[in-house]
Amino acid sequence: MHIHEYQAKAVLADYGVAVPRGHVAYTAKEAEEAAKTLGGKLWVVKAQIHAGGRGKAGGVKLARSLDEVREYAKAMIGMTLVTPQTGPEGKEVKRVYIEEGSDIAEELYLSAVVDRATSRIAFMGSSEGGMDIEEVAHKSPEKIVTTTIEPAAGLQGFNIRQLAYGMGIKKELHNAFGKMVQSLYNAFIDTDASQLEINPLVITKQDTIITLDAKFNFDDNALYRQKRVLDLRDEDEEDPLERRAKKFDLSYIKMDGNIGCMVNGAGLAMATMDIIKLYGGSPANFLDVGGGANKEKVTEAFKLILSDSNVEGILVNIFGGIMRCDVIAEGIVAAAREVSLDVPLVVRLEGTNVDLGKQILAKSGLPIKAADNLDDAAEKIVNSVKRKAA
Ligand code: ADP
Ligand code: MG
Repeated sequence: MHIHEYQAKAVLADYGVAVPRGHVAYTAKEAEEAAKTLGGKLWVVKAQIHAGGRGKAGGVKLARSLDEVREYAKAMIGMTLVTPQTGPEGKEVKRVYIEEGSDIAEELYLSAVVDRATSRIAFMGSSEGGMDIEEVAHKSPEKIVTTTIEPAAGLQGFNIRQLAYGMGIKKELHNAFGKMVQSLYNAFIDTDASQLEINPLVITKQDTIITLDAKFNFDDNALYRQKRVLDLRDEDEEDPLERRAKKFDLSYIKMDGNIGCMVNGAGLAMATMDIIKLYGGSPANFLDVGGGANKEKVTEAFKLILSDSNVEGILVNIFGGIMRCDVIAEGIVAAAREVSLDVPLVVRLEGTNVDLGKQILAKSGLPIKAADNLDDAAEKIVNSVKRKAA
């Protein structure tokens, strides 16, 4: 799960991380009020969307007067911001963050991730902050320093020194930097984060270190024990289909193909997507209905697949172990009726009560093509979709 920059900064501030003062605003008037409350002469108006790269796309503006704050906020709220991270459709800006402007001397990069290769939290730092870190990694990887945290020992002095020297931070600031890294680490652990990216980490002309941008991601599997994080969820920022799936406890990920898949078990779902590809097709989604799905859940899954307008055919591939094939079949029939199915549907059922399941499908009178095995199923759905397109 992602949260907004201003929310990330509020969480970090609670752990003692230095961040600029700021207020969120939903209207231009609120933005002006926020700037007035902050005082000073320089403000930054920042679009709050769950994507980075806002600066270059016009989503971060320096304002030198209250009028400018209002004007920028007015232009930004309601606009669709397209950044390299939003995808071509962009994201609509619904709130802005009004922050005090900082006197930037240097922009650095600092992030923490759960590194899958070592199963440890790793911090990465670079003197080249503010810009595209992927480009730095590509063109001059020697400018990125990585340090891995031993979980039993926690963050150690040498980890901090590795980062500080690797990022070229001057000696007088090592103390303050160390405290900040420790606070970031504490926040990361406490919130079950999966990623925390500070880009840029700024050294000001007054020689202070502050977090100027913050991107926080959390492990979805830990949200049950992270009430505070969950309260920060902004459903407007999430894919509506994925959001609906979550509600029904379905594992759904939208892809850009045209063959909808309904499968039980993540492994089988992956295999199904692979075999669709093998036969020259392209999956529209990953969807695992899980082991203990009931009729309602199957119906919901089916509706979910169909609400994706790219879907031109559906492949249901279910192995009835805990889940019985007749229950699946009833779900499919009920859903197909409810949504008046108008795309080809291929169903491959195997396992407990498979004959009963097949009977239910056959008797339904719906144009469902039965398949005997995975190859047969993939071939049938790929051909039906092609035929439909021709
Ligand atoms: P994004 O990564 O989405 O482009 P950032 O928050 O990193 O957004 O802002 C982009 C750039 O804008 C920063 O690299 C920095 O130069 C400038 N900036 C952002 N916030 C402030 C601020 N509070 N004061 C001064 N400059 C800022
Ligand atoms: Mg940034």
